Amino acid sequence: MSVAGERNESVPSEKNGPSDKGAGEGASDVDGLIESNWEEVVDKFDDMNLKEELLRGIYAYGFEKPSAIQQRAIIPCTKGYDVIAQAQSGTGKTATFSIAILQQIDTSLKECQALILAPTRELAQQIQKVVLALGDYMNAQCQAFIGGTNLWEDKRRLELGVHVVVGTPGRVYDIINRRSLRTNYIKFFVLDEADEMLSRGFKDQIYDVFRTLPENIQVILLSATMPADVLEVTKHFMRDPIRILVKKEELTLEGIKQFFVYVEREDWKLDTLCDLYETLTITQAVIFCNTRRKVDWLTERMHQRDFTVSSMHGEMEQKEREVIMREFRSGSSRVLITTDLLARGIDVQQVSLVINYDLPTQRENYIHRIGRGGRFGRKGVAINFVVEEDQRTLKDLEQFYNTQIDEMPMNVADLI
Ligand code: ADP
Repeated sequence: MSVAGERNESVPSEKNGPSDKGAGEGASDVDGLIESNWEEVVDKFDDMNLKEELLRGIYAYGFEKPSAIQQRAIIPCTKGYDVIAQAQSGTGKTATFSIAILQQIDTSLKECQALILAPTRELAQQIQKVVLALGDYMNAQCQAFIGGTNLWEDKRRLELGVHVVVGTPGRVYDIINRRSLRTNYIKFFVLDEADEMLSRGFKDQIYDVFRTLPENIQVILLSATMPADVLEVTKHFMRDPIRILVKKEELTLEGIKQFFVYVEREDWKLDTLCDLYETLTITQAVIFCNTRRKVDWLTERMHQRDFTVSSMHGEMEQKEREVIMREFRSGSSRVLITTDLLARGIDVQQVSLVINYDLPTQRENYIHRIGRGGRFGRKGVAINFVVEEDQRTLKDLEQFYNTQIDEMPMNVADLI
């Protein structure tokens, strides 16, 4: 974390446009901006000196062994260092900082001791769930504060005592400004999905929040990629950070069977999808489109043809988004059409089939979209719809991820 003087510094200008997201950064460290400077690896939760009740929470949640990033990053986080952890989405970063926070908070003190910022409401809520679940035996209180909900409710909730606050930058700034959230006891500041937050232009809001925090705060920053603007932020926020990079090898597309269907023309995608509908509903499927309008359009068309699908994108009301996610998580809806909003970090464990109705425009989103099914050994199937103009992009993806995308076989349903 930085010294007090830096607090009043003006926000650095947005120097780095999307063009800085150079080749390769989506997959790993190929851009070489950070290298690890922490070697210790602890491959058992038992050997991490964690509180008994926390360990119980971890095992009860179903974790047996720490993931690569957890093996490396939990310890320096619990030792009080500022930490930058770079690993792909789905590698266990959320649990990393959740465990580190839980290890360090004092639940007998009814004050907010850790603040986590996340780019989307869904992610904030998901983090809340993880903290609550892991901290179950410690009686840790964690609450998500997100836009689109009642500010008065937020205030009331905070008065009841919340140890860990997680939220989107705007709302968090709001509750600090209204003095609903007191910052004096906050020891931990976590920026999750930092690359995503910065690409959404949250930089000013993050600085605003940061300025209200105590001086000796410990900062943890997590990011799937390390573009120059993320590094820039770290300079302003962090003191000699420990850098931990989990390379591409740790997160592979292994276990995920990737296929393409050559549909030739855009107009023929819809029929192809309808043909696949039965396959989609074997378990649960997520269908990615590149725009919100396309999501709406496709949903409408599927409904017209009497197929049951739900859909979600960022233009929808918060309430509506919540209901849709709940339905999908519970399994009562089985096919979800969405944009890349959902691709990042949102954990829908049971999804074993992903359809790229449109190939992602940014290639790093490919792994965000389809990677979810194959985490921690779970298998998955991804099907890419390819029109004439996409053929090159497909080749590109294969090359970039050093992977193979085969033509979809007739028996694809058997593979799910
Ligand atoms: P990230 O924050 O890097 O996107 P998450 O923390 O959301 O990743 O983890 C992705 C998925 O893997 C979640 O379903 C989570 O419950 C699971 N997971 C995380 N750590 C472990 C672990 N040590 N063992 C088993 N599953 C894990």
